[in-house]
Amino acid sequence: MSTSYDVIVIGAGPAGYVAAIRAAQLGLKTACVDDFIGKDGKPALGGTCLNVGCIPSKALLESTKQFHALLHTFKDHGISAAEPTIDVPTMIGRKDKIVRQLTGGIATLFKANKVTALAGRGKLLANRQVEVTFHDGATEILSATNVILAAGSVPIEIPGIPFDGSHILDNVGALNIESVPKRFGVIGAGVIGLEMGSVWRRLGSEVTVLEALPDFLAACDADIARVAAREFKKQGLDIRLGCRVSGAKVVGDEVHVSYTDAAGASQDVVFDKLLVAVGRRAHTRGLLAEDSGVRLNPRGQIEVDAHCHTGVEGVWAIGDCVRGPMLAHKGSEEGIAVAELIAGKAGHVNLDTIPWVIYTEPEIAWVGKTEKECKDAGIPVKTGAFPFAAVGRAMAMNETYGSVKIIAHAETDRVLGVHMIGPMVSELIAECVVAMEFHASSEDLARICHAHPTLSEAVHEAALAVDKRAIHRAN
Ligand code: FAD
Ligand code: NAD
Repeated sequence: MSTSYDVIVIGAGPAGYVAAIRAAQLGLKTACVDDFIGKDGKPALGGTCLNVGCIPSKALLESTKQFHALLHTFKDHGISAAEPTIDVPTMIGRKDKIVRQLTGGIATLFKANKVTALAGRGKLLANRQVEVTFHDGATEILSATNVILAAGSVPIEIPGIPFDGSHILDNVGALNIESVPKRFGVIGAGVIGLEMGSVWRRLGSEVTVLEALPDFLAACDADIARVAAREFKKQGLDIRLGCRVSGAKVVGDEVHVSYTDAAGASQDVVFDKLLVAVGRRAHTRGLLAEDSGVRLNPRGQIEVDAHCHTGVEGVWAIGDCVRGPMLAHKGSEEGIAVAELIAGKAGHVNLDTIPWVIYTEPEIAWVGKTEKECKDAGIPVKTGAFPFAAVGRAMAMNETYGSVKIIAHAETDRVLGVHMIGPMVSELIAECVVAMEFHASSEDLARICHAHPTLSEAVHEAALAVDKRAIHRAN
C-alpha cells in the first residue's frame, strides 16, 4: 500500500511551498517534494526564488546600492568617509545568510502547518501516483487525490555557449562571484541582465550588455524604457542593441565573445566573466511519465486552463512551469488559488494585474497595458505623467529621477496601465494594482488623499494630470 495524501506538491518554490501551506491550512493532508540542494550541500526549500533568484539578487543589489551611494551621493548630504572599500566575500556571505534564514523559515512553516517535506525528485505517474527518488537513491511511490506540479524553470542555454560555472555563468554563478571582475559581459538586456549588470557596475566592473532585439526593454512602456536607457547609460552600463552573438569561448582566464552588431559588422569582445541571461524555460525534464496524461504546449510549458488545471483529473500546474509571467508572486497566487479550488472554495488569479518590478536604480515597475498595447488593440486612451523631480520627498531623498505615467480609457476613464521609473516604485505599484483590481478610474486615484510628503504623491499627481489638473507642475 503506498502512502496516500490529499495533496502532493512537486516543487517547493514560491508557487509550490505556498500551495502546500495553504492546502494544509485548509485541512488537507499534504506533502511537498523538492530536489533543490543549497550551497551548503543540504536540501533547501524555497526554489529558485529564495535560493538563487529574487532574494539573493535583491540582497546584492542592496549591498551595492549602499556602497555606490557612499562613493557617489553621500557627499551631497555632507557625509564623507575616507577611502571606502567593499569586501565582496562578506557581501556574498551576508546574501547567503539571508538565503539560509528564509529557506530555513519555510522548513519551520512546513512543520508548523504539518506539511510533509520530502527531499528528492518527484515524477508524476498515471492515476495521480507520484514516484519520489530520494537523494540517497531510494524510491517510493505515493498516491494523492490531487497533485500540483510546481517544478519551476531553468535558464535557457545558447547553443554552443554552455554554462561552465566559472567563466560562462547562469544566475547561480553570477550570484556567487567572489571578487569584482574587471570586465563583466552579459548576453541579454532583460531583467536578470540589468539587475546583475547593475550589481557589478556599482562595484566598478566595466559592464557590457549584448541584446538581440533592436529595442531596449521591449516589454516596458516606451516612455519608461527611454528614461531607463538614459539613466543606465549615465551609470556606465554599455548596452548594445541588435547584436547577434555567434560564439563564446574560454581562453585562459578570459571569455572571448564574437557577435554581429546592429550595423552588420563582426565584433569581438573579451570579458573576465560572462553572464548568459536570455530567458528561462519550464523545468519539466523527468517530471512526467509518458502515461501521466499531462500535455506540454509548443513552448514546453505544462498546458493548463484558466484555473491551472491540466485537464487530467486532480492534476494541476502552477508557477514558472505554466503560461504567464515568470514571477514569484504570480506563482504564489496560483498556489493559493489551486489549494482553495481543491478544498471546494473559489480561487482565481487575474493575470492582467500582475505587477512587474525591475530592481535597478532607478527601479522600474508597471501593471496593466502599455500605451502601445492599448493603441495596437484600438483602445482610445488618455495619459497623465508626473516627474519625481517635482516631489518634495524625492528631493529630500536626493532621488529625483523618473516619473509615474497613468494610462486611462479615453471614454470611461478606467485605469488600463500604470508605469513608473524612480525611487521605491517597487512599493508604489501596489496601490495601482489595488486600483486596477477594483476597476478604478483615474478620477478615483485623483480623489484619494495621499500623505505628504511621500513618493505616492507622484501617483496622485499623475492621476490628476490625466485630466490636465496636476497641481505642482504646469499641465
Ligand atoms: P521555482 O522557484 O523554480 O521552484 C521550483 C522548485 O521545484 C525548485 O526547487 C526545483 O528544484 C524543484 N523541482 C523541479 N522539478 C522537480 C522534480 N521533478 N521533483 C522535485 N523537485 C523539483 N521573480 C520575482 O517575482 N521577483 C524577483 O525579484 C525575481 N528575481 C529573480 C532573480 C533571478 C536571478 C532569477 C533567476 C529569477 C527571479 N525571479 C524573480 C523569478 C522567480 O524566481 C520565479 O518566477 C519563481 O522562483 C518561480 O517559482 P516556482 O515555484 O514556479 O519555481
Ligand atoms: P528576460 O526574458 O527578462 O530577458 C532576456 C533578454 O535576452 C531579452 O531582452 C531577449 O531579447 C534577450 N535575448 C534572447 N536571446 C538572446 C540572444 N541569443 N542574444 C542576445 N540577447 C538575447 O529573461 P532573463 O533576464 O533571463 O530573466 C528570466 C525571467 O526571470 C524574467 O523574464 C523574469 O520573469 C524573471 N526575473 C524576474 C525578476 C524581477 O521580477 N525583478 C528578476 C530576474 C528574473
